Amino acid sequence: MRSEASSGSPKAAGVRLPAERAPVQPSLLGPDAPAGAGAPGCGAERHVPRPLAGRRAVPVDGVTCLEVRARTAIDRVPEAEGLPYRWGVSPYRGCAIGCAHCAARPGHRHLGLDPMREFATHVVVKTDVADRLRRELAAPRWQGEAVAVGITGDCYQPVEEAYRLMPRVIRAFADAGNPFTVLTKSPLVLRDLDLLREAAQVTRVEVLVSVGFVDDRIRRVVEPGAVTPQRRLEVCAALNEAGIPCGVVMTPILPLITDSTDHLQATVRRAAEAGAVSVIPVVLRLPTPVREWYLGWLEREHPGLLPRYRALYAHGPLADAAYRERVAAHVRALAEMYGIGRSARRWRRRRSPARQLALV
Ligand code: SF4
Repeated sequence: MRSEASSGSPKAAGVRLPAERAPVQPSLLGPDAPAGAGAPGCGAERHVPRPLAGRRAVPVDGVTCLEVRARTAIDRVPEAEGLPYRWGVSPYRGCAIGCAHCAARPGHRHLGLDPMREFATHVVVKTDVADRLRRELAAPRWQGEAVAVGITGDCYQPVEEAYRLMPRVIRAFADAGNPFTVLTKSPLVLRDLDLLREAAQVTRVEVLVSVGFVDDRIRRVVEPGAVTPQRRLEVCAALNEAGIPCGVVMTPILPLITDSTDHLQATVRRAAEAGAVSVIPVVLRLPTPVREWYLGWLEREHPGLLPRYRALYAHGPLADAAYRERVAAHVRALAEMYGIGRSARRWRRRRSPARQLALV
């Protein structure tokens, strides 16, 4: 694998691809919708909070990018994420795609930033993440487990067009022969298709595109900064056709809104049509302060659902365990019905029988 000179800053980034984003829609959430919840580039202020004082703050397409050196590259993935990975790498903290429900929002509070108003407008950029990753992958204590990429912010969000951190991250995994899975909602992942294919020659590479539902009216409400579900499924199809196994992480499944048989079946069917090798259902999580915002929205728009939501989320940010299991079982049955996972199981047996993850 070719090594690449350190870049990691927009000035060093060279040619920039044209942005491919969903048109910014007026939010249906009302006037107290989270600032930047789908309007990357709108109204970002150059606010540098005290924990990040002294860091370079670079405006990129209206987003304030706070450049830091990575203290660590590989971090534990909290079990609550609902993903079958213990380890994750996140080149970015914060995300200009700005989904209103994003469970990564609370992390901004620890940085002295407002999780609802500044998550999409202030993005922390770990400019040396690939160098740090190389060192950690080479450490004797590292056991070579599969690593998920893009936990605290989409690794192909708009500012990646300028910073181009992902090509060097992919090369670090490939050079170490370490399996990895890219999580994204963005078609920008296709920019790195050749690199992903090169990496797939030497290790297990997967992509998971996030499609919680296929109803674009709902997408316009809760994920107005993301491209349409249809576009994400086209990305899934393109990756699979190019030989990169791509699955769908169904997140978020919105209780009582997108958990009906019709919604789940439509999403799983469309995933199957895109050749998805797996589907992983993840029910909406409501950590503070996403919870306050979401319940406030429900109170205005769907007041009849509020008591049932309060019961479902009575014990914290995760929905009731029995409910989550029912949804997961339903999705598993649908995935079986549409044949999702069969080709993946064959592929995995061929590629690396020792390191399989039990997806759906
Ligand atoms: S794309 Fe992913 S990381 Fe970005 S805001 Fe949406 S849910 Fe969060």
